[in-house]
Amino acid sequence: MAKIIVFNNDTDRMETYYRGESEAMPYNTNGTLRVREFRGSSKSNILWTTKRTMQSWNSQRYLFGAPIPVGFAFKRPYEGGHGNQSQHYAGVAFDVGQTLTSSRRTALWNSAKNSGVWSYVEPISLTPTWVHWDKRFRYTCLFNRRISNTKKRKHKQLCVNSTR
Ligand SMILES: [Zn+2]
Repeated sequence: MAKIIVFNNDTDRMETYYRGESEAMPYNTNGTLRVREFRGSSKSNILWTTKRTMQSWNSQRYLFGAPIPVGFAFKRPYEGGHGNQSQHYAGVAFDVGQTLTSSRRTALWNSAKNSGVWSYVEPISLTPTWVHWDKRFRYTCLFNRRISNTKKRKHKQLCVNSTR
């Protein structure tokens, strides 16, 4: 059983879920993303992500129209990984397609690049055996907003921009 903390971008609140490893992630539709898939190799008892990231997954899965194998998604900083890690630590990045054929992986990369769903899709040249995509998110926005109500609107604007 994993404890999953989800930042709900629509209500600006943290939500806590308890899910088994074979259950779907919160906000996932049609069971296309299991907890164990989002976890990947991470041993962490607590996982976190954002509602927007899960919705982006749903959109990407629908657009691709076929199962998307997930090698890695969530990671803690001490669990290592490839070059572009900070978004994995924030729970808003995926490394997918490891078990696809090269041509299907390229099709997945093109689907992700053209979907407009993700903030960033890493170039194929940097990810020869997987596809990295993420939904950029700055947790500092969240904490800054809690500090001062008078600055709330300004920070909210920054956060809205950073989560696209
Ligand atoms: Zn990655």
